[in-house]
Order: sequence, then C-alpha cells, then structure tokens
Amino acid sequence: MNRPVPNPGILDIAPYTPGKSPVPEAGRKVFKLSANETPFGPSPKALEAYRHAADHLEDYPEGTSRVLREAIGRAFGLDPDRIICGAGSDEILNLLAHTYLARGDEAISTAHGFLVYPIATMANGARNVVAAESNFTADVDEILKAVTARTKLVWLANPNNPTGTYLPFDEVKRLRAGLPSHVLLVLDAAYADYVSRNDYEMGLELVATTENTVMTHTFSKIHGLASLRIGWMFAPAHIVDAVNRIRGPFNVSTPAMRAAVAAIEDTAHQEMSKAFTEQWRNWLADEIGKLGLKVTPSVANFVLIHFPTEKGRTADEADAFLTKRGLVLRGLKNYRLPHALRMTIGTEEANRLVVEGLREFMAGSK
Ligand SMILES: *Cc1c(COP(=O)(O)O)cnc(C)c1O
Repeated sequence: MNRPVPNPGILDIAPYTPGKSPVPEAGRKVFKLSANETPFGPSPKALEAYRHAADHLEDYPEGTSRVLREAIGRAFGLDPDRIICGAGSDEILNLLAHTYLARGDEAISTAHGFLVYPIATMANGARNVVAAESNFTADVDEILKAVTARTKLVWLANPNNPTGTYLPFDEVKRLRAGLPSHVLLVLDAAYADYVSRNDYEMGLELVATTENTVMTHTFSKIHGLASLRIGWMFAPAHIVDAVNRIRGPFNVSTPAMRAAVAAIEDTAHQEMSKAFTEQWRNWLADEIGKLGLKVTPSVANFVLIHFPTEKGRTADEADAFLTKRGLVLRGLKNYRLPHALRMTIGTEEANRLVVEGLREFMAGSK
C-alpha cells in the first residue's frame, strides 16, 4: 500500500472505549457513574494549589517532579529516588511496556484485567497472553501456567478494575516467587486507598526487596485529580534509571504536581472519602442483592453487577433503562463481561436512584 503503515500489532489493538460521557434526556439530572471518578472532587487544598500554579504558566515544570516525589516519599515512607511520576499511571504503564517489551515477547494479563494492559503490550509489538480468572479474581496458578520462555512482563491490577476483587498479599508473593526472576511484575494499585483488609498490601515491601517488581499508583481515584493526569511508580533503582531514559523531560505539569502534593497531604479528605465509599459499597451490595442481582464483592470504589441473560433483564437493557434516567453506568463487553455493568459509587442521591431504577427495571417497567 502506498501510504504509511503502522507497526506490526498496532491495528490488532481494539480501540479503548472510555466510560460513557453523559447523554442527558431533556430535564434529567445526570450522574456519571461510569469512570470510577470520586463524587467528592479533589481536596480544596489541591484546588488552591492548582490555582496558585496558574500564576506561572510560562515556565516549564521541574522535570523530575521532585516536590511530588518527596511528598509521596513522606506519605508512604519511600525513597523519592525510587519514584517516577507520570501523566497518569497510564503513561507509566506505557513507559514500562516500551522499556521492557519488544516484538516476539509476551506479556500476561488476566481475563477481566484493565484494558490498558493489552494496549500497552501490543503497542510494542508484543503478544498479549490472557490468563483465566476464578470467580472474577486473578488466579496465580493460571498466571504461572501462562508463562513461557517468551514471557517478559505480568500485569496485575490489585484490586482489579472492573471486577473490584483483590489478591491477598500472600498470593502476590506466591506469584512473584513462581515467576522467573527476569520477568517484570507490575502491580497496579490504583484502588489501594479504598481497601481495608488485613491481608491486602499494595506491594511496597515486595518492590523494596526485589529487583523485578514495580508498583504503580494514581491521583485519579481517591484524590479526585483524574483531569490533571497524574500517577506514579515505585520501582527498583535500575528500573527507575531505564524508564527515565525514555520519559518525556517535562511529562508532569506544574499545576498537576502542586495539586497532587496538596492532595496527598490532605489525609482527612482521603479518610472521609474512604469511609463514605465503604458505607455505600456495603449498602449497594445489599440493596442490589435484594433485587435478585448478583454483585461481586468489591474492595474498590465501584461494584460489578451481574444480570440474567433472559430478554427484558439483560445488562444491555438495564444500561439503556438507567441511562434514560440519567444514571450512566459502564457496559463491559470489551472486558469479556457482556452480562455485567460496573457502577462507580456515587453520591447518596445517585446511589439511591440507581437502586430505585434497578428495582423498576427488574419489576419489568419500561
Ligand atoms: C483508573 C485506573 C488507573 C489510573 O489511570 P490514570 O492514568 O492514572 O488515570 C490505573 N489502573 C487501573 C486499573 C485503573 O482502573
């Protein structure tokens, strides 16, 4: 063909379809519950820091995100030299794939894992290998079974999106121990701030004590800064060194950096959001369960709702029914979950409206 041709693998990638943006029916208040955004917005202190940074938009940002790496270091007790910040954790995930994957390599993700993983894998010409899950949860044995001589990287969101399930830290350690030491294990802890389970850990200890494990995190979820695109990674020194060589020199903007510093220091805002999320997650699981729908137990800020396959009761029909009422959930066909919808936990008003809407839907209203 006489025109530019994308690299091998690129056109095999299914385009990422983000959570629907609201399409309001006239006069309806719209609740966007499709992208796991917080109903609280960021800390007021983060907003203030952001506005303050607007006074100097003519200046390039400090290129290593030093103030933010130091703030993250203080918050989690980490060496700032082992942190890299990025334009969302998406950028970090893509930088990792770009650094460690090439044509002929394989990277493993799980059946209902985050869709950015296969995209990052295939964008680098590598093959995306899918490991089966058990009960909508990553299965260490299945991942280990999928390892071949070509495996270079394993992606694991813990907790996972869109299922809301998690692996206890013992299982993560068993996974690490079972993988060849040259295989990079990427632990994506985007939802870690919402988890309160004794057997859960983000994986900082594993990163600190191995040469082949990294942990990524984000300011898009509990910190409410998704619009600013800011995430980070904690990694062994040799990985920080390699990734920094291809990272854009000014990949994080000053307003984003400043807002993130203020956000991570506002622990009261985070605690409020976590407690609210837990309360309404339990309430939603109970109430939706009472309607005869299955809800996968979640430790994150969203719930996975399973629908019957009989006509009139399907996930597709429920999605259309709720959308008309201004309640926008997330359909999951491209996550191999055609019979489920993911609902981000919203305001009390939104949560109650969804349960009310689902009750009417299950009762057969139109
Ligand atoms: C939302 C989310 C992220 C965060 O992505 P950003 O690019 O930081 O906004 C990362 N991983 C998973 C699994 C997510 O759901």
